[in-house]
Amino acid sequence: MTHTTTRRIFIARGVAGSCALLATSMGAQAAPSRAEEGDETALALGYKHDTNKVDAKRFPNHTAAQKCSNCSFYQGAATDDWAGCAMFGRKHIAGQGWCSAWAKKPG
Ligand code: SF4
Repeated sequence: MTHTTTRRIFIARGVAGSCALLATSMGAQAAPSRAEEGDETALALGYKHDTNKVDAKRFPNHTAAQKCSNCSFYQGAATDDWAGCAMFGRKHIAGQGWCSAWAKKPG
């Protein structure tokens, strides 16, 4: 193996390693964590992943038609299963979920 060939292999391995690192970091950014119903914010807001499981005694004005996907704070498309919400920082919440900050999306 010549010196030039060895150098080419070294450079190719470096590029491949960099690509793998970049793909890994991009993958981590593409999958934000999901809110848990037991999270401090979720408990304070009465958040549930499923709007049908909201505590009716605690939230008597809630209706099953109220969902994150039709809330003005939902940051995804209405058809997205999970998306961001202004109330939950970087965590995603369920499109079929609900919390007491629900506000009808205009339109
Ligand atoms: Fe869902 Fe709206 Fe509550 Fe966010 S503010 S968790 S989108 S109901």
